[in-house]
Amino acid sequence: MDKRYDVIIVGTGAAGLYAALSFPKDVSVLLLSKKELTLSNSSLAQGGVACVLDTIHDNYKLHITDTLVAGKYKNTLKAVEKLVEEGPADVLHINALGVDLDRNPDGSLCKTLEAGHSRHRIVHHKDSTGKAIVDGLLAYVQTLPNVEILDNALLYSMHKTLGGFYLSVLRNGESRYFGCNYCILATGGIGRVYKYTTNSAIATGDGIAFAYMLGAKIKNLSRVQFHPTAFAAAENRERFLISEAVRGEGAVLLNCEGKRFAHNYDKRGELAPRDVVSDAIIRESLRTHSENFYLDITHKPADFLRERFPMISERCLEEGVDITKDWIPVFPCQHYLMGGIDVNLNSETSIDGLYAAGECAHTGVHGANRLASNSLLEALVYSRTAAEDITRKLRRYGRKPLGLEPAHRPITGSKMPSGCRSQIREILQDAYFVLPKPEKFEESYKKVEEIIEKLFSESYEITSDLVEAKSIAVVASIILDEVREGQQ
Ligand SMILES: Cc1cc2nc3c(=O)[nH]c(=O)nc-3n(C[C@H](O)[C@H](O)[C@H](O)COP(=O)(O)OP(=O)(O)OC[C@H]3O[C@@H](n4cnc5c(N)ncnc54)[C@H](O)[C@@H]3O)c2cc1C
Repeated sequence: MDKRYDVIIVGTGAAGLYAALSFPKDVSVLLLSKKELTLSNSSLAQGGVACVLDTIHDNYKLHITDTLVAGKYKNTLKAVEKLVEEGPADVLHINALGVDLDRNPDGSLCKTLEAGHSRHRIVHHKDSTGKAIVDGLLAYVQTLPNVEILDNALLYSMHKTLGGFYLSVLRNGESRYFGCNYCILATGGIGRVYKYTTNSAIATGDGIAFAYMLGAKIKNLSRVQFHPTAFAAAENRERFLISEAVRGEGAVLLNCEGKRFAHNYDKRGELAPRDVVSDAIIRESLRTHSENFYLDITHKPADFLRERFPMISERCLEEGVDITKDWIPVFPCQHYLMGGIDVNLNSETSIDGLYAAGECAHTGVHGANRLASNSLLEALVYSRTAAEDITRKLRRYGRKPLGLEPAHRPITGSKMPSGCRSQIREILQDAYFVLPKPEKFEESYKKVEEIIEKLFSESYEITSDLVEAKSIAVVASIILDEVREGQQ
């Protein structure tokens, strides 16, 4: 073993970073990121963080109700209450630590409206809130003497012992071995299981796959959220998001004939929750036999749009679309995972010493559908909770011996079979997109199982490609198994 720590956190998104800074200075922490430290879904978040800061025009009960309505009342009520009631203090805390949030001339934090929210309660940094959060938290964490950070450090295997965990990490083509009493998985989402996604390249569900292979309970992995308005002209796999806030500021959705249609499917129209709007677009697409859809916000003053949505304006301009004059082409794509590694209110998984927080975790707050801007809030509240719970345990039980270190297999081996990742992406995109095709579940599941068989049957050379292919295969298989079981 190269080194042992009290805690290893896998992931440097909002959840990993906030967990790291929530430990007292006598707890040793290692933070791992498989690529650059800022490459994550957190960095891509545009809209903001939902939280009740103004108790005159808003209150916890309203935020809880909005969350439950969006989640179709499939949420875990206690988890939602904790999110809503504890979240505001975390948002104020990150702001105090240096995360820059937009303010009104009177000094109060700006709050905007997003789909599914009954009040203006989304705090933001222009349209690049996630980047502001990651940059602010990372700058702070880098000053902490008890936290070591390793970038380009890919977790490729986890071993559970009586006292904790041994983690194998691939860095610069070499293996490194670390031990810890407690481990927090903050590895983010699963977007790369799909052909088109808004997610970062790191979103391959690694933490979920490792937790599953250790025997942790995984819950509701088939609760995948599709964002209705990703920029649709580019053929890139990572689709650029036209945030809900654009509709919150008055953009309307148009079909291929240039006509509004969202109200024909739900009376909340463009501001209905994401699943409802995605559903409306796909049904309208089937009706019109066209995949051409647009957002129109040209009625707003150009200066306002450039100031309010600088990143979106710029990205659209790069694609030849001037949002002050042109309709923005949009279509749904994979965006978020509501399910994940099942955790309790302390962020503990079903495995002793293993915690999960952020998008890879299933706290139950989102139910069947996430309310916009609740996920960064969840990442903050539940990662801090994990750190607090681990600290309590370290105080009570002290540092435990880790137990026997496993034999490590060499990273060399034969070359992995090619094409597995694209096959899985095609399978999921076809069988389980916005309007699922139940008749394809069984066959799709069998195909993914064959790919798993291929990937796990031999000692291939350990590369990031292999680790990620295995992760997306395991994730796809759990999703398809869940939906096909639901069919029976
Ligand atoms: C385009 C876009 C816009 C969004 N907008 C909003 C918004 O406005 N408001 C909101 O609340 N939410 C938004 N979300 C969702 C939100 O950003 C994410 O749910 C949240 O940031 C997830 O944070 P996380 O820390 O759990 O994961 P991430 O930020 O994705 O971080 C995951 C980390 O895990 C690391 N990792 C993964 N696997 C391994 C491995 N094997 N070894 C080592 N490290 C590993 C990665 O390197 C990365 O550092 C948006 C998401 C996207 C994609």
